[in-house]
Amino acid sequence: MKFYIPNSISSDIRRKLGYVKIRKIKVITHPNSIKDECLENVRSYLANHQGEVQLGWKFSLLGNVILRLIAHAVVKKENNDLICISPNEDLKEINFLPDNSIKNMIEGKYLPGKHLSLINNKNIKEYALLLDKVEKLKFEFLPENIQVELDIIHSKASFYLPTVYSESIKITKMDECCYCGSGILRAFCHQ
Ligand SMILES: [Zn+2]
Repeated sequence: MKFYIPNSISSDIRRKLGYVKIRKIKVITHPNSIKDECLENVRSYLANHQGEVQLGWKFSLLGNVILRLIAHAVVKKENNDLICISPNEDLKEINFLPDNSIKNMIEGKYLPGKHLSLINNKNIKEYALLLDKVEKLKFEFLPENIQVELDIIHSKASFYLPTVYSESIKITKMDECCYCGSGILRAFCHQ
């Protein structure tokens, strides 16, 4: 199982997020853009173009039971159009939730991420918390600390993973994207 980027954000997820305004925005990758360096990409783009930085969240799913929100920077043009100029796995469009409050969460070049359990299951919620902990380790600068922490997290995660797996299989309908993360419908993947 791996995280995948959903084409659309279901009404269930929108409800979980409090019916926020998620926009579908175009991806027009700039030739100088580097993967996973969206903020730097936008800043250097704006050195030669009109517009401003727009911060927000993009989304991916694990097994259709955990939602990952990843802080992301895009270009806001003068006419208020939003364009993503960073490579996003060859996607032409992404779902994006504008949120400039992320500005206070940026440290160096790292942008934060967070995880949300989409179902009411204790083990899935615990697993989402562990993923948040891994995310926070990006801000830790001593590699030896990271390794110790990661080992602890991995051993805890192995306890919750079977539930993540079994709940994913249970919840994913045949006409939905497969829980495995292949990006294709379950009916044509893991039946
Ligand atoms: Zn599959």
